[in-house]
Amino acid sequence: MSEPAIRQSIIDQCRAMNASGLNQGTSGNISVRHGDRMLITPSAVPYDAMTPDMIAAMPLEGEYGSWEGPRKPSTEWRFHLDILRSKPEANAVVHTHSTYATILSIAHKPIPACHYMIAAFGGDDVRVCDYARYGTKELSDNVLAALEGRTACLMANHGMLATGSSLEKAMWAAVELETISRQYYHALLIGGPVVLPAEEIDGVRKGFASYGLQDERPATARR
Ligand code: 13P
Ligand code: ZN
Repeated sequence: MSEPAIRQSIIDQCRAMNASGLNQGTSGNISVRHGDRMLITPSAVPYDAMTPDMIAAMPLEGEYGSWEGPRKPSTEWRFHLDILRSKPEANAVVHTHSTYATILSIAHKPIPACHYMIAAFGGDDVRVCDYARYGTKELSDNVLAALEGRTACLMANHGMLATGSSLEKAMWAAVELETISRQYYHALLIGGPVVLPAEEIDGVRKGFASYGLQDERPATARR
């Protein structure tokens, strides 16, 4: 995808995220890897007023925190950058304050294997990272610890984030994480979930490799 197309797709996904109720106001932010740079939403700009030129660019290597653009990058550039730097398979990060994921994050409740879809996040749970103030390096360090072997996490007293090999997949994961958060929250209200065994989630995860969630492979590798 060309850089102008990526810049536009970031804005489109921001607007879709607010229109669907996954996010509200100017909270939340999105980043996408493009070559040796990260493209990231500017801080505190309403999504309706955001234009492609306002998306900030930051080098993935080189001076940590340097940026180009007419607006400052999201205050959360540290965890976006640190995730893209440490996880080569992640090409996009979506952060939102979606309601049910945020409720669980406020209660410091990780999501257990209450539904087989937990496997979509890399293991048999989704962790809550320790609390640190928004925009800090400490928050980024806590996020990275919670993402060990996982593609998403809740963020204590704040919200959630999901990663993906493309922006489309990261957004899909964010919607799935909000859905399982809502389901888990309601299961807690009727006596709590029956949690699936770790071996079952492992099997589901292997099954996903041949379901619709896998990355594109060359035609010769398809069965
Ligand atoms: P930004 O507007 O700086 O991206 O901040 C929103 C947010 O969600 C902070 O955690
Ligand atoms: Zn936030």
